[in-house]
Amino acid sequence: MIRALSYSLSLLLALAAPAGAGVVKRLPTDDKVVALTFDACEAGQAAHLDHGIADYLVANHIPFTVFMGGKFARDNADDARWLASQDFVEIENHSWSHNNHMPRLTDARVQGEVTRAADEIFAVTGRRTHLFRFPAGNSDARTEALVAGLGQGIVGWRWAVGDPVKGVTAKAIVATTLRMTRPGDILIYHINGRGWHTAEALPRVIEGLRAEGYRFVLLRDYLQGPGPSPRANSLQNRSL
Ligand SMILES: [Zn+2]
Repeated sequence: MIRALSYSLSLLLALAAPAGAGVVKRLPTDDKVVALTFDACEAGQAAHLDHGIADYLVANHIPFTVFMGGKFARDNADDARWLASQDFVEIENHSWSHNNHMPRLTDARVQGEVTRAADEIFAVTGRRTHLFRFPAGNSDARTEALVAGLGQGIVGWRWAVGDPVKGVTAKAIVATTLRMTRPGDILIYHINGRGWHTAEALPRVIEGLRAEGYRFVLLRDYLQGPGPSPRANSLQNRSL
């Protein structure tokens, strides 16, 4: 009885949870670790992999996660395959078309943004994605539930340097990162050519964090294990 009551209560609390409650904003640990994550967004116009960032991280065997758009995977297939050939690089889902206002989309379109990107990333790289990051971080309780219903963990961030702003210099990226970082943080930058000074800042970011005792880890090292893959054909078995 008490268990049933507490279950009902937690269910009520979950239903009443504000938007954002289902979004992981930091790793659940006090270890001195951070996850380097990079968004490979592609919306209206073609975008390309920033090799200034990727080549440095791969050459130095530093683990990192790329949240890749489906269109980005399609248009950068060779680079996506190269990233996937590195076992210390995670590739996760950043939607098909990078609609910055997913809460305005119908249920079917929200699900399509996830499944179409997942299918494209799989077709190009052979990788199944298990985590999703909303474009511009814009989500609400409904869209979060839809994404979670596809077995996807939702990953956000606690603070952002704002590297898509041209005026954010390498010096500012380094200083802000070193000032703001706390254990378990999920750092977010851009690897689509719109992180204007990110490649320039990165070596100093890495050296500075290492000097403070931080290690670089993958999201999968600390977040729940993979759920089912969000494949389009699995949707057919759901009552939409
Ligand atoms: Zn993005």
